[in-house]
Amino acid sequence: MCGLVGIYGVPEAAKYTYFGLFALQHRGQEGAGIAVFNGKRIVEYKNLGLVSEAFNEKILQELAGDIAVGHVRYSTTGASVLQNVQPFCVKYSKKTLALAHNGNLVNAYALRCELEEEGHIFQTTLDSEVIIHLIVKYLKEGLVYAIAKTMKRIKGAYSVLLLCDDLLVAFRDPWGFRPLALGILNGGYALASETCAFDLLGAEYLRDVAPGEILVIDSNGPKSFLPFEEDPQPLSHCIFEFVYFARPDSFVFQKNVYLVRKNLGYNLFKECPLSADFVMPLPDSGTYAALGYSQASGLPLEFGVIRNHYIGRTFIQPSEKLRDLSVKMKLNPVKEFIRGKEVIVVDDSLVRGTTSKNRIRSIRLAGAKKIHFLISCPPLRYPCFFGIDFPQARELIASKHSVEEIRKFLDIDTLYYLSLEGLLDSVGELRDKVCLACFTGNYPLEVDFSFRKDITEI
Ligand code: SF4
Repeated sequence: MCGLVGIYGVPEAAKYTYFGLFALQHRGQEGAGIAVFNGKRIVEYKNLGLVSEAFNEKILQELAGDIAVGHVRYSTTGASVLQNVQPFCVKYSKKTLALAHNGNLVNAYALRCELEEEGHIFQTTLDSEVIIHLIVKYLKEGLVYAIAKTMKRIKGAYSVLLLCDDLLVAFRDPWGFRPLALGILNGGYALASETCAFDLLGAEYLRDVAPGEILVIDSNGPKSFLPFEEDPQPLSHCIFEFVYFARPDSFVFQKNVYLVRKNLGYNLFKECPLSADFVMPLPDSGTYAALGYSQASGLPLEFGVIRNHYIGRTFIQPSEKLRDLSVKMKLNPVKEFIRGKEVIVVDDSLVRGTTSKNRIRSIRLAGAKKIHFLISCPPLRYPCFFGIDFPQARELIASKHSVEEIRKFLDIDTLYYLSLEGLLDSVGELRDKVCLACFTGNYPLEVDFSFRKDITEI
């Protein structure tokens, strides 16, 4: 998963991009980059770490220009190294191009092998680099043609921003896996993965970049091209954006994330009505479903564990050792409050189970009398190939254990997962337009189960 920001026709575009990326920090914490067209060519800066660590005032001042793209990275293909931080910039035939990609391609390795056979030399281990090689390969027929032809060849999830000298182009896969929104900003335009970036920048949301659309912004404004008009694909918006990934104050796929998360909690109560002293979330991702459960049940909502906000999200940290450490550092139960109580604990999902086990154990050690653990999505049984770094199926606890076995492993009184129907009901009219593959194993397009995120590493 990654976050994208694009700015067109706004002075100090790099600064706006910086603040937009800051709002999207939850989408990727491994590295950040900004590329700007300075009137002659594209200049870029990228670094490992958080947006606030990667840039400073001096660097942003050097990125002068009024057209920019930015990226925050969370790796799903290729190692977490500086070389793989985006935007990915190239020079070709007196043009400079910079590409920022959110999503994951399922046929990138095959395309990379084919391009290498033809003599292409790759500089990174990113799946995203394949996109720019293909665009350049077809560029002599014109940029829109090259992008359309590339979109017909690449398969999988891609929301892309491309700076081609003074043109800003956005394009999105025909399945619509990842969000991408267009807004207006100070007489110019803004693009972002989530609308929370617009709120911070003061941009006004106009519309989503449509699945399968190419949107070219130049001095005449945005112009739309629809290469899949004759060949539309079934919409497959990632439902996990609502469950966990997107910020609750964002609209993604034209729906407010906060309200969907509350619906998940209402539906949890409908399916699993329990009595207890109070409902408590595992913050932050369980907060809004817990609120929904509390409002539906009439039980008080309490914050029985306190989060240290200065620690990054746990399941996207690369190594197991760090993940365990950050779990202990991240949440602390309020012992005086939990002792002797029967509690309903709500979380968004269970991945490997080890993180939840540690958290539940700390609630038990704080003296909880009974623990009912509710999960606001169905069991995750299958890996994601479209841009969320779920582990291999064998590492997903629900892929090889029953709910009862997981309950015993977690040492809790009740374990309940929201049903698939409850999940679909929570997204309303989007119910027929979402990807559910990590729950059902029904992938919207063919995937390669032997894929590993380090497949392109030497
Ligand atoms: S498999 Fe799951 S996480 Fe991946 S795109 Fe589909 S719904 Fe989202």
